[in-house]
Amino acid sequence: MQVIHNYINGKNVPPKNGQYIDNFNPSTGTVSGKIPDSDSEDIEDAVRAASAAFPAWSNLPLEHRHDILRNISDGILQNLDALAAAESADSGKTVTTARTVDIPRSALNFKFFATALLHFSSESHHAPGSLSYTLRQPLGVVGCISPWNLPLYLFSWKIAPALAAGNCVVGKPSEVTPLTAYLLGDICNAAGLPPGVLNIVHGLGPRAGEAIVRHQKIKAISFTGSTRAGSEIARIAAPMFKKMSLELGGKNPNLIFADCDYEKMLDTTVRSSFNNQGQICLCGSRIYVEKSLYPRFKKDFVERVKNLKVGNPNDPANNLGAVVSKMHFEKVLGCIDLAKQEGGQILTGGSALQMPAPFDKGWYIAPTVIEGLSHECRTNQEEIFGPVATIQAFDADSEALEMANSTPYGLSATVWTNNLQRAHYLAENLQAGIVWVNTWMLRDLRTPFGGVKNSGVGREGGWEAMRFFTEAKNVTFGG
Ligand code: NAD
Repeated sequence: MQVIHNYINGKNVPPKNGQYIDNFNPSTGTVSGKIPDSDSEDIEDAVRAASAAFPAWSNLPLEHRHDILRNISDGILQNLDALAAAESADSGKTVTTARTVDIPRSALNFKFFATALLHFSSESHHAPGSLSYTLRQPLGVVGCISPWNLPLYLFSWKIAPALAAGNCVVGKPSEVTPLTAYLLGDICNAAGLPPGVLNIVHGLGPRAGEAIVRHQKIKAISFTGSTRAGSEIARIAAPMFKKMSLELGGKNPNLIFADCDYEKMLDTTVRSSFNNQGQICLCGSRIYVEKSLYPRFKKDFVERVKNLKVGNPNDPANNLGAVVSKMHFEKVLGCIDLAKQEGGQILTGGSALQMPAPFDKGWYIAPTVIEGLSHECRTNQEEIFGPVATIQAFDADSEALEMANSTPYGLSATVWTNNLQRAHYLAENLQAGIVWVNTWMLRDLRTPFGGVKNSGVGREGGWEAMRFFTEAKNVTFGG
């Protein structure tokens, strides 16, 4: 049984209240460890440590800050196996996914923003009789709160730019998947990160998370998670005039046209609906297919999904592992029941899967494909965030666009067509922060990342993140 600690001022410390929460391994459904049930006192300690480390951290020579962040990146890769095993044990995702996606991307996040800080610059505006320049100064202490689906990947996606911009950080990973963030503390110490620059506090959202949001000295909140928690955070932080970046839920459409590159589309669509058990905010859960292609797509897609292997996340032969928690398992099964009540026909999946021991108490769900639903029903409007996709035919481009834009969410959309005009038209008119054409999850870290509507406010990635984590000050000289 592993007991993990908070990482405050460069040290692993227990929560002040001495209270812990059970941590579960979703693949076996059993308790695997204990994590701190931290509260405002631990956050206070973390803020004190972070405040003491600022502004010394931001005053380090750029090369020095760069080197430390690069060392963290290298340290993550040196610990690839241990981190991938921990990520899988905490989240139920396959070790293959953790080894090839989560952990390499976490290392890349630090590497990318380490180099970004060397190139980050600000504007100057010259006019007859005046010269204005913009100082982009770090905010001070900032809060980073992340979810369970891509634990270290999304935690580092926030922390790396925050540190690169010269801030000190109080971070809270999801209480459901705390292990890799805990391991990151030792990697940061080995990388030479000064004590207090990064502090990681574990615990529940409404307790430890909310204490971060409410703390007067925390100047900005970068949050990724549910729309529900995002709106709660905004309610608290907005009257305090904190900067906020909120990356929230999604209900992403895939628009598939008969003129697409069929095999590439089919391969990618299976991945884009079921990778990581469908628990990626960018997964396509509503698949709209042009009527002439629909029968062929339905047959091939269902066959491919039936062939996906679910089970022991350590077995490289398996495509899907367990979903992240008992609560989420029950939620997803409830959504499948709702789809049936709404008149949906289950083409494959539709139920939990019973595994042999020692995985017999794990939380496994068969990849599920549903047809026969209207785009306006709850199944097609509400986020499920599991291995469930619906398929539906459309006649005209305008109908596909209307169905795609019909939800309250707007994170990403995927379009499959070889018609350039159509692709540009849809890209312009889809209500989403990211539109992929003939691909999915292809991420250039320099591009803006974020959602519209209930999928959030603000953008991460590249200069957007560096700007978010700095305050612009205009300085004007007269002639
Ligand atoms: P969640 O909102 O329950 O929790 C996310 C984090 O916020 C956790 O660390 C949690 O402890 C904390 N939290 C919860 N309530 C809080 C509060 N009142 N104050 C402060 N912190 C609080 O989300 P989750 O279940 O961990 O993650 C799944 C959700 O995240 C899905 O909706 C998914 O779409 C979304 N997500 C979005 C993106 C994106 O980039 N837009 C990426 C990944 C996941």
